[in-house]
Parts: sequence; structure tokens; C-alpha cells
Amino acid sequence: MSASVRQKLLQEIDESREKAITFLQQMIAIPSVTGDEAKIQKFLADYMAKIGLTVDMWETDWEELKKHPAYRPVARGYEGRPNIVATFKGSGGGRSLLLNGHTDVIPVGGGEGWSDDPWSATIKDGRIYGRGSADMKSGVASHIMAVECLMAAGLKPKGDVYINVVVDEEVSGHGTLDTVIRGYKADAGISGETSDLAVQPACIGRIWFEIEIHGKPAGIQKRYEGISGIELGNKIGRASCDGNAPLVSKCPRYASLHYRQLLGRQLSERVPGQLSPEG
Ligand SMILES: [Zn+2]
Repeated sequence: MSASVRQKLLQEIDESREKAITFLQQMIAIPSVTGDEAKIQKFLADYMAKIGLTVDMWETDWEELKKHPAYRPVARGYEGRPNIVATFKGSGGGRSLLLNGHTDVIPVGGGEGWSDDPWSATIKDGRIYGRGSADMKSGVASHIMAVECLMAAGLKPKGDVYINVVVDEEVSGHGTLDTVIRGYKADAGISGETSDLAVQPACIGRIWFEIEIHGKPAGIQKRYEGISGIELGNKIGRASCDGNAPLVSKCPRYASLHYRQLLGRQLSERVPGQLSPEG
């Protein structure tokens, strides 16, 4: 890129500052807790079509997805929850780039801890507040604005640029998986996840687990003969937080176990024999 073209592009980006902020506020103002992404996806698909991108929006075939080795069980399907790839076609002969981001956000809870409406997108002291501002509607907005600035400056890369906007990231990552299944490939990819504007060449990986712990159930009369599955599970729980545990000690900031569910079965017994933690 020549210095003059670069200057032209930077000027375009500077001039679009207010527009980018307003666009992000519009995105934040659309509630999109995982499972409820229809409205935000339609908003973005319409926007990207309007600026001249070729938009592919589709719903995941849940039954097909279940056959993929990277599938993990989820409680709900994908009807009304489409993924998007918007393509900025290059002039040819260059390498392609895929910009990936998700629009679903985690629940807002019961209102405790919020000083404002979670969907207000209020700006205070130079910061935008609202669920999803950082994770990661700002990332998705920056992807779209970056391509729009290129277009506005009259620039076209040689390679294709794909803007991939997915659902269900907070629960499964299936939106990105289904983008791969749909056949999208690129020479390079950037995820707009939160990074404090640092380049992160690697990201957190997740492995889902289910553990079955078998103690020895016992009734109240012979409780002393029982071995509680909950107590055994507690030992595992403590070990996973222990800085000296083999996994944790190797990379103390990055490796951890998180339980989302603990099921003590056979609770009719005073000493429940079985526990099935999942995380
Ligand atoms: Zn995220």
C-alpha cells in the first residue's frame, strides 16, 4: 500500500469515528442473549447488504451438526438463529481474510450489579456501557466498519474478505463450526474477541467434560459405611483450584476447571453415592 493510499484510508477511518460509535450503540441496544440472536443478525445482514456486500445468511441444520466430531451437546437448536458470512469480493490473485465474531452475549442476570440498563449503550467518560460492548459487539462493529472504510476509500483488496458473524458462541462455538461446514475457508483469520487491543496469536481453548464419581450409597442407619460422592467430588473440585495441581501449576493463569453443574444422584440416601459434575 502506497503512503498516499494509506493516508486516504486513515483519513476515512478518522472521519467515520462518530458513525462507528453510533453503529456500535445500535448493536448493543438490541438484546441478544444466546438463543435470542434473530434480531441482531437480521440487523447486521441488512446493513451489510446495504453497503454492497454479498450476504449469505443461513440456519444451522442441528441434526447434521450433531454428526460432526467437534459437536458438543446443546439444549436448543438453531431455528431463527442464523449465521452470516458477508463477502467483499477481491479483484483476484490475492490471499483471503476472514473476520470472525459473535453477536450472542451472556445473560444480564437479575439486574444486580448494573448501574444502568444493560442495553442502554450509554457513553460515560469516553466508554460505552452495556452487555456485549466488549464481548464482542465492538469487535464485530470494527470488522464491518473496516470493510466499509475500504469501500468508501475506493479500495479493493486482491483477495476476498469475509465478515463472519455467528450465534451461540457463548455456549458452544457451533456458529463458527457451521461456517466451516458450510465451506468457507480463508488464508488467514482474525477474531475480534476482547484483547485490550493487543494482538493475541493464540486463544483460550475449551474442553467440555463430564465426570462420574462413584462413592458408596448408604441409608441413615448405616451412614458410617457410606462414601459420599459429593465429598469425593469436593476433593476433585479443590484439586482443580490448587496451584500445585499438575495442570494448574504448569500454566497458573490459563488452565482451570469450571463446573457448571453438579448432580448428586440417589439423594434419597443419606450418603449419596454418585456425583456427576459437568463443566
Ligand atoms: Zn466473546
